[in-house]
Amino acid sequence: MAATILVVEDETAIQSLIEINLRRAGHEVVLAADVESARRLVAAALPDLILLDWMLPGMSGIDFARQLRRDARTKMLPVIMLTARAEERDKVEGLDVGADDYITKPFSPRELVARIKAVLRRHAPQVTEDAVELGGLKLDPVSHRVLAGEEDVALGPTEFRLLHFLMTHPDRVYSRTQLLDQVWGDHVFVEERTVDVHIRRLRAALEASGQDALIQTVRGSGYRISAG
Ligand code: CA
Repeated sequence: MAATILVVEDETAIQSLIEINLRRAGHEVVLAADVESARRLVAAALPDLILLDWMLPGMSGIDFARQLRRDARTKMLPVIMLTARAEERDKVEGLDVGADDYITKPFSPRELVARIKAVLRRHAPQVTEDAVELGGLKLDPVSHRVLAGEEDVALGPTEFRLLHFLMTHPDRVYSRTQLLDQVWGDHVFVEERTVDVHIRRLRAALEASGQDALIQTVRGSGYRISAG
């Protein structure tokens, strides 16, 4: 499982410990030492998960978590709070603002990696390596294969990521901006019609099997995959 993880931590020793272990687990790591720089990084490209220290210089991690939950763009972004405070009431507050999990320092790297994996599996299935099925389609992230019935479907890397994201989030409409955020990781420098181009290619690749009907255009809103 390879996710992009934004680590917001001001203590450099802990920051590098986390970085080394997450990279070893196959993740991409982006580092920030305060909320200000974390916010800039999130604005430029959505990470798959944020590992957020509670006590930071300037704005606290807990206030940042609250902000992320209020913003439509980051509302669903998985957040794991990191803290030296082990008190039960802090844990409750952390989960109250919408953090998905909570890790108390000191933690073992193995525990950290396991918790991240669990949160990603729950909230960002598109970055896990679990095979997904929908309608007559089966997508396997490990072998990077897509089957329509028994037939192999050849897809480019972007179409594969796009299909993987849609299949792990069925029956929901995503706007072009949201798809750019989620699939391209960038909504600023890529034009929205890029999404249409890749949807068209994806449909063309699925056409022979008739599975292109799974991908629906929702006029004025965006795209949705649905077997219903
Ligand atoms: Ca700190």
